[in-house]
Amino acid sequence: MRNDPLVAMNQNQSFWQFKWGDYRPNKPFGSGRYSADVVIIGGGYTGLTAAREIKADAPHKRVVVLEAREIGFGASGRNGGFNMTLFGLEPEVTLMRWGRQRTEQAQAYMQKAVAFVKDLIEDNNLDSDYEHTGMWRVAYSDKQRKRLEKTYSLLSEISGRKSFEYLDARAVASKLSAPQMRAAIFEKECGILDPCKHVRELKRLAMECGVEIFENTEVIGLSRTDTGLRVQTHDANITCENVVVATNAWSHQSPGPRKIRNRQSPVWTYQIVSEPLTSEEWQQIGWSGRMSIEDNRQFVHYMRVTKCGRITIGGGDIEADIGRRMHRWHSEQVWDRLEKHFRWLFPTLRHKKIAFKWGGAVSVNLDMTPEISFIGDERIIMASGCIGHGVSLTQLNGRLIADLIAGKDSPLTRFWIVNRRAVPMPPGNLLSYIGIKTISSILHGVDRYEERELRG
Ligand SMILES: Cc1cc2nc3c(=O)[nH]c(=O)nc-3n(C[C@H](O)[C@H](O)[C@H](O)COP(=O)(O)OP(=O)(O)OC[C@H]3O[C@@H](n4cnc5c(N)ncnc54)[C@H](O)[C@@H]3O)c2cc1C
Repeated sequence: MRNDPLVAMNQNQSFWQFKWGDYRPNKPFGSGRYSADVVIIGGGYTGLTAAREIKADAPHKRVVVLEAREIGFGASGRNGGFNMTLFGLEPEVTLMRWGRQRTEQAQAYMQKAVAFVKDLIEDNNLDSDYEHTGMWRVAYSDKQRKRLEKTYSLLSEISGRKSFEYLDARAVASKLSAPQMRAAIFEKECGILDPCKHVRELKRLAMECGVEIFENTEVIGLSRTDTGLRVQTHDANITCENVVVATNAWSHQSPGPRKIRNRQSPVWTYQIVSEPLTSEEWQQIGWSGRMSIEDNRQFVHYMRVTKCGRITIGGGDIEADIGRRMHRWHSEQVWDRLEKHFRWLFPTLRHKKIAFKWGGAVSVNLDMTPEISFIGDERIIMASGCIGHGVSLTQLNGRLIADLIAGKDSPLTRFWIVNRRAVPMPPGNLLSYIGIKTISSILHGVDRYEERELRG
């Protein structure tokens, strides 16, 4: 690690971006008038995967990615790195809102998504620090444990395979010394990766396919013309046939038709990472399977080990702001709570220092369900609403978007999130903020109720 962590934190870098070290972005798009076949706005997992797959399908097409900052600046370079099957907020919420059949289809899509990422990494030898470790979902209180048992039954039914295992307190304790964890569901087919290394490997793969990637190039205009679409940057006008809007949590600020801006709101989630543990400390707490862990609170905590021997933990609470400005990178309050949670979970590690803290924005919509929408018609395609569960989803979405652009009728394009009837965010920043705040206070209420015994 070449840089100073304090400087990196002040520059809103994630631990993964900091660990990467000096990064040399591609040059910005030039000035003047150009034409392309497909322009992709946003250089995260969605944009880079869609670009690579479109180019692989049609090598003759000119496919251009425009990224306002650098590749992986958004959630894709700062997430927990869980390659997992969780869709939307919770399977129970999807079931209640969309019914059995669609919940099963969503689960099948997510299982395919996890395999898609794993296969991509293995087939191309990507340096993403990928480990197929499996994942735990844990309960702390008795009420949470009872709900976890129901979730286990539901997941076992909808997943159509035996990849879930229920672990009682003893089984949990035999694998990890975290006395507050009372029960867990183990899901075998999940993994962890280094998100920043991965997104930059996706950049390399896309460029090797012939995709043109420009960084520090913000898109400020998107309009229809008589002959196609026009994308504007500060210095250039690009005409093209298709546009993919892959701006995720920034989409409410995107140029173009109003439908792009009213799909979602940004919600901020935060992470901390410890200093490295010694081998004695690892022996004390176990965690030999290196599985990733989420709890089953409404405001989940997510935690995992890193390749460099640390523990990172995130979530627990969120931030949003009235103006929906993209500036909530820091939250001392949430970081403090995360640190307390870390010490509560792992009492033997109470003395460990927190080495790095960061935050990032996820895209949340009102019905907590991901969406791939046509803006006007199929020439402009947009993906949004992945909440905090987009590592696998966004990459398979990239393949799905390539099918849409090729005009294919495929099992992917028949997935019901494509051009689904979505609830738009209320007009105006204030109403959107109130919508998010209302949902979040209901979820906080559930957590308080279910965790009363832990406070007693
Ligand atoms: C802290 C955190 C932890 C998370 N943990 C997990 C996890 O463990 N597992 C999981 O499944 N999901 C997780 N997620 C969610 C997951 O990271 C995202 O769903 C996923 O990375 C979204 O990818 P994306 O490509 O759609 O968007 P992003 O990666 O956000 O990319 C959008 C890009 O668009 C660019 N952009 C915006 N506006 C413009 C413009 N006008 N012109 C050009 N470019 C523009 C941005 O700069 C940005 O780089 C987490 C997210 C966060 C923030």
